[in-house]
Amino acid sequence: MLIGVLALQGGFAAHARMLRELGATVREVRVPADLDGLDGLVIPGGESTTMTLGIEREGLGEPLRRFDGPVFGTCAGLIMLDREHLGMMDIQARRNAFGRQVRSFEADLEVAGLDGPPLRAVFIRAPWIAAHGDGVQIIAEVDGHAVAAQEGDILAVAFHPELGSDSRLHERFLAACAARTVGAGRTLDAMRRDSGA
Ligand code: GLN
Repeated sequence: MLIGVLALQGGFAAHARMLRELGATVREVRVPADLDGLDGLVIPGGESTTMTLGIEREGLGEPLRRFDGPVFGTCAGLIMLDREHLGMMDIQARRNAFGRQVRSFEADLEVAGLDGPPLRAVFIRAPWIAAHGDGVQIIAEVDGHAVAAQEGDILAVAFHPELGSDSRLHERFLAACAARTVGAGRTLDAMRRDSGA
């Protein structure tokens, strides 16, 4: 499975590492042609203003909006997906929502549909989801604030699942990518067997 990681800025390397450990082939995405043939796309954390400028500079806005496949956005990536940025998800992000002084914290999250113990989540100047449409399912909250959401094949989280060793959200994303890879007949389990992971 070929997964793209938007690599204009921010935490793309840690995502790439985790995806490779799970058996995916990773391509760093910097220009529109890099989106061709991908089975899924990750938009990492970083700084959403800088990322927006990079997307404009490279003419990536329209190609990203047209991307037809599962997308996983984390932290600034969640912001990029919202109504006011790429508009790929019917959510409205609030930047630095936990307050600038609360620069980072960790929390044990119950994520809907995730088996096993709570997910230890790292938040770094994180947004939250201030509003969302009916088609959006909120799958995790912190103090009553939505911090993870799913809309069709698009998954967005306000934290950094690529940091640390819990890869369950990346596995969930890759499972969605595998489900979309019509005719290839390759499941995530098969990929793991092939890669020895
Ligand atoms: N605060 C950043 C922004 O608004 C996001 C932080 C992050 O991605 N860790 O873009």
